[in-house]
Amino acid sequence: MKSNLFLWLLLCFIMILPGCTNLPASSAAGLPMEPAAFIQSKKININTSVTSPDTGQPQNKPDKPVKKAYLTFDDGPNSHFTLQILDILKKYGVTATFMVVGQNVEKNPTILKRIVTEGHHVANHSYSHDYKKIYAGPEAFLTDLQLCNQAINNTIGHPVNVFRPPGSPQNFKPSYQKLVSAHGYHPISWNVTGGDTDPRPVTPEQIVENVITGVEKVEKMKKTPIILLHDGAEVDLGLDKPGTIVHNYINNRKSDVAALPKIIEFLQARGYTFVGADENTPPAW
Ligand SMILES: [Zn+2]
Repeated sequence: MKSNLFLWLLLCFIMILPGCTNLPASSAAGLPMEPAAFIQSKKININTSVTSPDTGQPQNKPDKPVKKAYLTFDDGPNSHFTLQILDILKKYGVTATFMVVGQNVEKNPTILKRIVTEGHHVANHSYSHDYKKIYAGPEAFLTDLQLCNQAINNTIGHPVNVFRPPGSPQNFKPSYQKLVSAHGYHPISWNVTGGDTDPRPVTPEQIVENVITGVEKVEKMKKTPIILLHDGAEVDLGLDKPGTIVHNYINNRKSDVAALPKIIEFLQARGYTFVGADENTPPAW
């Protein structure tokens, strides 16, 4: 009799067991619910909008990332071409970066002040721009860089930590980089050039074409265009001594000025925003 009672209790326990699982509740008709009905019955909200982490309010999806381009001008300030370039930049409302040479800063301090007043960025491009002097060794390079920074500081009231090594990037060896980095300097190179330092005459059309070709190339590499143009005269060219190379160099600065509006219009039509170089500028290569 006892064993019959035990078997009866065991049978009751097996029949109750499924009610302990977490399976979805059955519908009134006893049929399994479709997923949508299950979600509704549990009042689960699937919110597809983006909410602000600050306010919790819905906000628009983030805009597409800004397409940045860097317009950079080396070797100034120059009493003639820098002023023309500044006028064009002002007309288009465009920000650029001027990689200045210390000796030229001392010759044209008011132009450097105007560069800063009009919202452009300034970078160090050595004091002497004399390849023999600055590439004699890392210490010589650093000394020249610091001299330029003194000239900048004396003119605008503060030094800058961004610099562009003069000449080919190949001249700037890792040992130079190591030393100047230890002193807080940040290098800015370039990946698009107007080809305006050719010793032969370069036309505005050629400079525009060089920039367009260069921008299209770096776009394929998913890079940010850092465009190299020149507003000034390399000190070591000796522009006070007339000659064919000097004549062409000055001619090419005129071409730079003539090319600039078309370069800006090309980049604007392509959706670029112009920004000034700083320590957050991405590596060119
Ligand atoms: Zn230069």
